[in-house]
Amino acid sequence: MNRRSLIIKASLVLAGSCFKINEAFAFSVDFLKKKYQNFYTPENSKFHQLKKTFNTLIIKRDPFGILFPKKASEISSFLKETKTTGQKILMRSGGHSYASFSTGEGIVLDSRNLRQFYELENNVIKTSSGMVLSSLNNSLDEINRSFPVGAFPSVGIAGYLLGGGHSRRSRFYGLGADNVSSMDVILANGDKLHNVSPSHYGDLFWAMLGGGGGNFAFVESFTLDTKPKTKDYFFKFVFNGSHLTKASEIFSFWEKESSFDSSEFATNLTVYIQNGYIKKMIVPGLRNNVSKDKNELDFELKNSKWGELFNFEHSHFESSISHSNDIKETTIESMSFKGSSHYANSLIGKIGFEDIQSSIAKHTKGMSLYMGFYSLGGEIKKPKREISFPHRNSLYMVDLFSNFRADRSRFSQMNQKFNNHYTHISHLFSGGAYVNYPNLDFENWAEKYYGKSLSRLLTVKKRYDPDNRFNYGPQSLSSLLI
Ligand SMILES: Cc1cc2nc3c(=O)[nH]c(=O)nc-3n(C[C@H](O)[C@H](O)[C@H](O)COP(=O)(O)OP(=O)(O)OC[C@H]3O[C@@H](n4cnc5c(N)ncnc54)[C@H](O)[C@@H]3O)c2cc1C
Repeated sequence: MNRRSLIIKASLVLAGSCFKINEAFAFSVDFLKKKYQNFYTPENSKFHQLKKTFNTLIIKRDPFGILFPKKASEISSFLKETKTTGQKILMRSGGHSYASFSTGEGIVLDSRNLRQFYELENNVIKTSSGMVLSSLNNSLDEINRSFPVGAFPSVGIAGYLLGGGHSRRSRFYGLGADNVSSMDVILANGDKLHNVSPSHYGDLFWAMLGGGGGNFAFVESFTLDTKPKTKDYFFKFVFNGSHLTKASEIFSFWEKESSFDSSEFATNLTVYIQNGYIKKMIVPGLRNNVSKDKNELDFELKNSKWGELFNFEHSHFESSISHSNDIKETTIESMSFKGSSHYANSLIGKIGFEDIQSSIAKHTKGMSLYMGFYSLGGEIKKPKREISFPHRNSLYMVDLFSNFRADRSRFSQMNQKFNNHYTHISHLFSGGAYVNYPNLDFENWAEKYYGKSLSRLLTVKKRYDPDNRFNYGPQSLSSLLI
């Protein structure tokens, strides 16, 4: 620490004893702005732009300041120098938190300038936390490797991996988080921990992967196991029009035939709902690492049980690095949406889906909604390392998502309908929910996101962040400890 920061630090301690904590902080802001050229506060003309959230339905977000570090050492010194100020610290990677947990009251550490990628030995790579899924994919493509990434290009790797990371290829490779072998992190007191892994700060490693971003430590970089790039067979069945009277039959067929133990074959079911009706059902599927030719694969599928019941729409070969061709750089900078999730621990069958249909008819009039049923199983059930993600034994995840773009002015009415539908169908599922699809209206959010991992997560939180500095407000683990 240089002489000037020592003087400031001493002043802060003195100031903290004479004034309120925030006055002490105000006193040091000029110093911080001079020392950290990339520290922005509301006086800066760019600030309004910099604090914008991806989900524009969550607009009331007023950080005290945002730091865009260029190297991890800046984060360490910044955290040490601001220790006595009482400001909460938030972290931001791709900024795609459904509930905008990465931008809020306090100081935001934004990792967008940390974007390095190195190839290490034995098909292992190291990547900084500012990478987004498409930049990770592009870098892997250059070295002929792949990784189970999620569906949206601009999602940040930090938030994605720390919550678990569901990919369409998770059946083949496990969750994103299952492929993290170690992390370099910075604690709330500014100390840097290298190589956090199952054998080195194992409790922190366990807690961070599945415990959700923003709670335990700032991740500077992840070391990831990668997979060979494979040629995969993509196929799609589509159902619309008159078929829809058979919706519950289609659903129960999908459930039964989803081969939940398979590590080579994966299908999802997506249901598009409009104004209280199911408009369309789609089954996209993948077969991993195929050597047969396309005609042969199409023939097999069309003549299978799937082909007997459904219309075969389309198939193509794709590299395992692509995500049904949509994992490219995108220009979507924001959306107005509400999302949430369930996990299924047993099959709900035809009768269960009929209950979902009656809820759709009762609660979703006047809105558009998407329900994705994502099959789990396969490699997700065989993790190489123990992490805190609590839903790995579920059969599938249900993703509920409503783009409110056209209905922004009626947000509270739409939100109520969304929640009513969510609650109506809850009895069919496990009670758990994905921490990366946070719903601000949950009352028992901690049990839903963390299940049996919760009490151990709180123990680890107290150990590594005893002052609850890493605190993004509602639904932060800190909020349970203060
Ligand atoms: C359109 C869309 C599609 C999606 N598709 C998928 C999908 O296919 N599969 C899936 O699993 N998820 C998916 N998600 C959810 C996604 O995984 C989460 O929203 C994730 O948290 C976003 O990460 P982020 O870094 O972009 O977000 P941010 O808002 O930057 O961060 C999310 C959380 O991580 C914390 N965090 C950020 N950076 C760091 C860091 N360096 N160290 C520690 N904590 C940090 C933040 O504080 C925050 O709590 C999708 C989200 C959207 C909006």
